[in-house]
Amino acid sequence: MLITELKAKETILSLIKGKVFIINCHGCKEISFPEKEAEELQKELIVSGNVTGVITTDYICNPDNLKLRLEKYTAEIEAADMVLVFSCGVGVQTVADLFPCKRVCAGCDTYALPGFQGVTPLEVDCKQCGECYLNLTGGICPITACSKSLVNGQCGGAKNGKCEVDPNMECGWERIIRRLTQIGRLDVLKCPVQVRNYATDDEVK
Ligand code: SF4
Ligand code: SF4
Repeated sequence: MLITELKAKETILSLIKGKVFIINCHGCKEISFPEKEAEELQKELIVSGNVTGVITTDYICNPDNLKLRLEKYTAEIEAADMVLVFSCGVGVQTVADLFPCKRVCAGCDTYALPGFQGVTPLEVDCKQCGECYLNLTGGICPITACSKSLVNGQCGGAKNGKCEVDPNMECGWERIIRRLTQIGRLDVLKCPVQVRNYATDDEVK
């Protein structure tokens, strides 16, 4: 199980550049979703005139479901410079996969909760690390896409684009760099060294 928590308001506001389309996922909200706080923040953004559209739906972690739900918002999404997603890490990654040339940002952090973990046949994974890095890595999770879970990749061991730990998988950090290049955001890698806060990560406690 997991819970999602809103990132700090200043953090979310600092992500917004240009027009934004907002996606809220209430798929697992019975566990915990910062519905009211997200709504308040979004009201402010709408008043500022920078929002092209908002959708509140469920299970955006299912790519087919996501595509179907977004069909009637094509114009609003095209008009936006970025998509801001309020969901767990899997939802944000699924949206990023759907829009490879668009900037996709996470409005929430995802934390693990003890209990049964839903089984979803997905390409992407979130280890619920409690400090979501997707805004720095173009919507590709460095914890799950890199064998060493590096937040300051890459390690230098990749050969022909394959991971040195598992040659059957693509180097996650090569994917991240490709994606950042594609969305014109390589500049985010110039930010100070990221230090991972292991205190928020249930898996490594
Ligand atoms: S960085 Fe990865 S593991 Fe951590 S919350 Fe985001 S998607 Fe999940
Ligand atoms: S080769 Fe790439 S994916 Fe593998 S551990 Fe190094 S940075 Fe991570």
